[in-house]
Amino acid sequence: MAEYLIKNGYVYDPILGINGDKHDVAIKDGKMVDASAVKNAKVIDANGMTVMAGGVDIHAHIAGPKLNIGRNFRPEDKLFNAKPGQGIKHMVAGHSVPTTFKFGYIYANMGYGFAMEAAMPPLYARHTHEEIRDTPIIDEAALPVFGNNWFVLEYLKNHEIENTAAYIAWILRATKGFGIKNVNPGGTEAWAWGMNCSSIHDNVPYFDITPAEIVTGLIEANEYLGLPHSMHVHGNQLGEPGNYKTTLETLALAKGYKPNSKFGRDQVLHQTHLQFHSYGGDSYSSKSFESKSKEVADYINKQDNITFDLGVVTLDDTTTMTADGPFEQHLSHMNHLKWANTDVELETAAGVVPFQYRKNTFIAVAQWAVGLELALYAKDPMKCFLTTDAPNAGPLWRYPRVIKWLMSEQARNEVLDDAKYGEKVRDRCYIGELDREISLYELAAMTRAGTAKALGLGNMFGSLRPGMEGDVVVYPYSPESENPEDIEYAFGNAKYFIKGGEMIINDGEIVSNGNKRTFWVDCKVNENAQVQHDIEEKFKRYYTVGLNNYDVNEKTFLPNPHRIEVDATQ
Ligand SMILES: [Zn+2]
Repeated sequence: MAEYLIKNGYVYDPILGINGDKHDVAIKDGKMVDASAVKNAKVIDANGMTVMAGGVDIHAHIAGPKLNIGRNFRPEDKLFNAKPGQGIKHMVAGHSVPTTFKFGYIYANMGYGFAMEAAMPPLYARHTHEEIRDTPIIDEAALPVFGNNWFVLEYLKNHEIENTAAYIAWILRATKGFGIKNVNPGGTEAWAWGMNCSSIHDNVPYFDITPAEIVTGLIEANEYLGLPHSMHVHGNQLGEPGNYKTTLETLALAKGYKPNSKFGRDQVLHQTHLQFHSYGGDSYSSKSFESKSKEVADYINKQDNITFDLGVVTLDDTTTMTADGPFEQHLSHMNHLKWANTDVELETAAGVVPFQYRKNTFIAVAQWAVGLELALYAKDPMKCFLTTDAPNAGPLWRYPRVIKWLMSEQARNEVLDDAKYGEKVRDRCYIGELDREISLYELAAMTRAGTAKALGLGNMFGSLRPGMEGDVVVYPYSPESENPEDIEYAFGNAKYFIKGGEMIINDGEIVSNGNKRTFWVDCKVNENAQVQHDIEEKFKRYYTVGLNNYDVNEKTFLPNPHRIEVDATQ
């Protein structure tokens, strides 16, 4: 394998405490090494440019049946930017729901080396892994959804943590999953009965359990198992004005829990796309709606066991897709565009609805403001992560624009000055009072060091420390630049990107499909005859597939698996 020496760049690495110093960075045998350890290295001159470890995305929707539904029923989305293949690149298409190949290239151009598919329906894990396998370059993993699963609801109703944990370990092995996702706990199951959960204390029909009990039960099961990542929650009431109260109540459920993990994370609860959960008022009108980002961020700033990602609205045409079934039905009735919803047997549900965040409406720009405010109020960038909940709040390839808004008050003011209701947004949100600009050092925490740590992957990704994966990106950005447009350009057009020691982007061109891996967590638990019996019984009685057709075979579906072993026997 080639050795690389990246010289003279401005380096940002919060783990090593390097804040823009000129540093030489070296890679040998696929890993980071001390610059003195390479002898015959290919030298990359990063003079005047920014050098970071490869990016790590904690939450995006990039593989699985939701994506394919989006692609199938939105040919108009596919027609955007269709391009023939070129060099080693396959043909690509798609704006908010790109082809699998395009997802790989987008991440490479943004300098990302790892991404988490944030919601995998266990029953469709085979499909999800097929798409992951077809996505070049980027290492990926997927979080199976548990918050509306019949096994989980029945065990947790009786607070059977050990059984819940044994079932979760079985699902992770069967579906080659990475951790615990929890979407609209109880509410998605309630949707199958034509209802929803409007607070964390609502009863889920038939199951006689509350969202609060599901959240704490899954935290306890997660810590019983000692998984690399924490319970990852999209709470109740997403998108509803006034929902910040439900959000604060949900976050408060983490109180008193401590992480039990050998993988270095600090949190027991990761709250995803917090922007969608930080609204005040009781309607979307500018007379009532208001930002509650400050209240929510203030709460999280005082906790040491919660992390979150932003879900910034990018003011684009996009396609929403979520396991929050009742929300998608609600959204389709508001915007009257196309709508697909499905119920996934005993496990979950999901919906897909196109959405236009229009700059000439009050609410879209207010949502945009809320997402950015959360980052600007967050005290610790190691706990606050950049996402657009892609494609829900905006397409994946808009990350560079979000970075521009975070780093430049001028760029934010341009949006507000340009927007029809910009003054109203300044009035109903906090954005107008915030002059903070995120630094490159903080950005490195929000996009790699912090996300890697929260996923339990801090021993592989997020830093240039010797021994870490040889993932290095060189962005054509000088910290001395005063033009915010330079930020957006640079973070979408990596000049060099080396991943696992292999050159992926050379002088701005993608030159390799890399050595893509799929990560999954193999968790060993005590024999549990009860859970084994329940699984066999439910598959016989209710599932449309047999157990033999459920399992994701590692050899068939994961050509290059990276298995993380956890021993939870006791
Ligand atoms: Zn999501």
